[in-house]
Amino acid sequence: MRGTVLYGTGDVRSEERPVPEITAPTDAIIRVVAACVCGSDLWPYRGMPPVKEPAPMGHEYCGIVEAVGDAVTTIKPGQFVIGSFCISDNTCPNCRYGYQSMCMQGGFMSGAQAELLRVPQADGTLVATPDMPADDLIPHLLTISDVLGTGWFAADAANVRPGSTVVVVGDGAVGLLGVLSAKQMGAARIIAMSRHESRQQLASEFGATDIVSERGDAGVERIKALTDGVGADSVLECVGTNESMQQALRSARRGGYVSYVGVPHGVELQAGQLFSTMVHLHGGPAPVRRYLPDLIDLVWQRKITPGKVFDLVLPLADVAEGYRAMDERRAIKALLRP
Ligand SMILES: [Zn+2]
Repeated sequence: MRGTVLYGTGDVRSEERPVPEITAPTDAIIRVVAACVCGSDLWPYRGMPPVKEPAPMGHEYCGIVEAVGDAVTTIKPGQFVIGSFCISDNTCPNCRYGYQSMCMQGGFMSGAQAELLRVPQADGTLVATPDMPADDLIPHLLTISDVLGTGWFAADAANVRPGSTVVVVGDGAVGLLGVLSAKQMGAARIIAMSRHESRQQLASEFGATDIVSERGDAGVERIKALTDGVGADSVLECVGTNESMQQALRSARRGGYVSYVGVPHGVELQAGQLFSTMVHLHGGPAPVRRYLPDLIDLVWQRKITPGKVFDLVLPLADVAEGYRAMDERRAIKALLRP
């Protein structure tokens, strides 16, 4: 079967791979219907850190169940399923508290940019759709696996409420879907920080009421000016750099909420700054599994169209072009069809 392997910096290949097999009774094998390239795939692609050995790539997926292990009870062959990028049994204490990305039996998915995929803890990780989806729903359903689930967590962790004033730092797919999520949660004002015209347009389409293209001190000044000098109730940090984190912390009002969902690279927090601003800080790998049923329902009822973040669709064999296009910011997000 065809799969994707990262060999080194800038060297990602589509090649023949071993067919995955059930190795534990809790596994499922799914035939991937759609997968995609994640912003977080770009870190190792850019050599941060360099890969030590060839790495199977991909953790966002949806598809049709081919086979299940003996211990799998709720997931059945023939179902269309979506899973989180985190593996979870959905029964351990961490899962029951709603932190399935911290599952005690968990781990991170890999190898999803492929024709076939082994999913561990199938009962806890996967959720089936009500029926076989129409083809035009596939991109929207695929986003739930990571980018929409992560944007939703970013809004939830930043305490977005009806009437909230929200700032979203980052105009990648997660930031854009953070805008969509904040809109769904009833935010009154959503300020998207973006410098790119096509992304600004999509942010507006998803519900942004204001666009701020400045960064650093000028960006903070603009946010303050837009919020009567107070700062925002909720700030979603969707990048993971120190610059974006400082932007987020300085954009929140005193006692406001900052969430962060980009994998941190070089972020430095000062306890004194947190103490003197009383900002709440909450983030990490999104517990997407917590939101899967509700997000599937929103897409199934055609109430949201998160799949608009895919502005490049490629056959799986051309995955390398997807990485290049996202690395060069020619594409927001690349969808792969096996
Ligand atoms: Zn668990």
